[in-house]
Amino acid sequence: MSVQVVSAAAAAKVPEVELKDLSPSEAEPQLGLSTAAVSAMAPPAGGGDPEAPAPAAERPPAPGPGSGPAAALSPAAGKVPQASAMKRSDPHHQHQRHRDGGEALVSPDGTVTEAPRTVKKQIQFADQKQEFNKRPTKIGRRSLSRSISQSSTDSYSSAASYTDSSDDETSPRDKQQKNSKGNSDFCVKNIKQAEFGRREIEIAEQEMPALMALRKRAQGEKPLAGAKIVGCTHITAQTAVLMETLGALGAQCRWAACNIYSTLNEVAAALAESGFPVFAWKGESEDDFWWCIDRCVNVEGWQPNMILDDGGDLTHWIYKKYPNMFKKIKGIVEESVTGVHRLYQLSKAGKLCVPAMNVNDSVTKQKFDNLYCCRESILDGLKRTTDMMFGGKQVVVCGYGEVGKGCCAALKAMGSIVYVTEIDPICALQACMDGFRLVKLSEVIRQVDIVITCTGNKNVVTREHLDRMKNSCIVCNMGHSNTEIDVASLRTPELTWERVRSQVDHVIWPDGKRIVLLAEGRLLNLSCSTVPTFVLSITATTQALALIELYNAPEGRYKQDVYLLPKKMDEYVASLHLPTFDAHLTELTDEQAKYLGLNKNGPFKPNYYRY
Ligand code: NAD
Repeated sequence: MSVQVVSAAAAAKVPEVELKDLSPSEAEPQLGLSTAAVSAMAPPAGGGDPEAPAPAAERPPAPGPGSGPAAALSPAAGKVPQASAMKRSDPHHQHQRHRDGGEALVSPDGTVTEAPRTVKKQIQFADQKQEFNKRPTKIGRRSLSRSISQSSTDSYSSAASYTDSSDDETSPRDKQQKNSKGNSDFCVKNIKQAEFGRREIEIAEQEMPALMALRKRAQGEKPLAGAKIVGCTHITAQTAVLMETLGALGAQCRWAACNIYSTLNEVAAALAESGFPVFAWKGESEDDFWWCIDRCVNVEGWQPNMILDDGGDLTHWIYKKYPNMFKKIKGIVEESVTGVHRLYQLSKAGKLCVPAMNVNDSVTKQKFDNLYCCRESILDGLKRTTDMMFGGKQVVVCGYGEVGKGCCAALKAMGSIVYVTEIDPICALQACMDGFRLVKLSEVIRQVDIVITCTGNKNVVTREHLDRMKNSCIVCNMGHSNTEIDVASLRTPELTWERVRSQVDHVIWPDGKRIVLLAEGRLLNLSCSTVPTFVLSITATTQALALIELYNAPEGRYKQDVYLLPKKMDEYVASLHLPTFDAHLTELTDEQAKYLGLNKNGPFKPNYYRY
């Protein structure tokens, strides 16, 4: 498969679409009130028959036969970036490509060819099933959960909880609960906590302007009318705002948690009180986890036609237990790196039977969640766990990708002296140009006060590094999984572990030196702090639009493959968040639009633009 990569200058000369002045109603992407309106949010068609789209990356970006004015707002199947076929140019993508076993070959003329990928590992449902049965204990189940889904256990929310339910040991599965309307189609910790949860949801609404705007814009029309969405995500106040938005747009929802620790019981109760069938509570066992998912899916007289997943467990469950359901399912929207990776595996194995939208790699997710979320939450996580002062402290950040950039910027702003380690010369040069000292970890390990990993890699901090750290050095990870710090190497008889706070361990060497290990090497911010609602708003809006797009897409626009959100929708998500800042966007003049070869209403960048 070859992918033509044209330079920005070339793109400017060769317009991707023919220009067309749009009426005000067309000028702004509308909520998908009808299929046509949904289509309007997709990038203008560059050619090709919407009924038989070719992957965007396979076609040159020059105008095609369907690129005339009439096509400017027509369904954009041909231009929808097909993630599995796209050149992945940013470091994140390179990393995934590596994991996928694929290789990009760049020829001197700039043509990028994807070498055939080998499927190293396919999803083995049968094996996994055996594994579930083997592990009856709670601890065993949790560790299994990690093997199935890192996201189901590796992150927990420590968001404020009004009620300590630890004194109520009765499993929610054994309780008979009804909401105030007599409905019992839910399973939450305690329905009586609904009022507290409602307050949390109302607070979150203040910081989720785009979802609230979607609700308003939908008014009487319901782009998700008839949609039956089964969801499996963290159940937090922000998710509740998303679910209630989907409800306002016409969807029926049933929801389970994607993580056994992260459910806010009060919020789950508030949703159940409002009539949402929610099956989730904080501290589920592995058995509970799958039971909750099953209760969402296995319902008499109700069958889902859309999936919203975070981590891939729900999708996995339906594949394994109810494969026939896919006959009615129109699409999957997946949020996480892990889940997206599974979808690519299914796609490569030819087992993906419906279109899927990769929300994780949309610009509005990656560039905001990874960078800005971490820029804020790194300080929060460190502060809550250690009460430390950042000014003058020496910090080494491993990895200068999106997450690393965010961490470095925050710490620098607080007056820390920041060192960076990198393997990629481009990111390394960025670090240098941003004013950070690029070092090898071994060069600074004796002197630093804090070590932060954000590489997505494994064994970045080894036992040797840990041995050489100075007394009281803080060690933590901001990457997805707990592989970056070799925590297992610290579980040896000569070292003493002392739990000093929730999520804070002192590991003590025989000579009395101690290091401060946070969250046992798991994601610091998701384990020890909350993440900013505004960032989650961006991600949640992307999810909502992906659902609308897949649900309303005409037959044939999306095939059984993994797609990225159309660029124009990414831009729309961003535009919905601008009013919060009273930001005033400049509009292209006709002359400027023509000069740049752009449609005045976007998309403003080609798919390969890196931001
Ligand atoms: P990225 O690919 O943009 O950045 C990772 C960087 O680490 C790359 O530049 C890579 O070259 C570098 N790297 C790899 N191995 C290294 C090594 N041994 N030493 C030094 N540098 C090395 O990815 P990202 O978007 O920054 O995400 C990083 C990790 O954080 C991923 O695991 C991602 O899933 C996770 N993540 C966390 C959060 C959060 O809230 N904590 C949010 C988004 C993503």
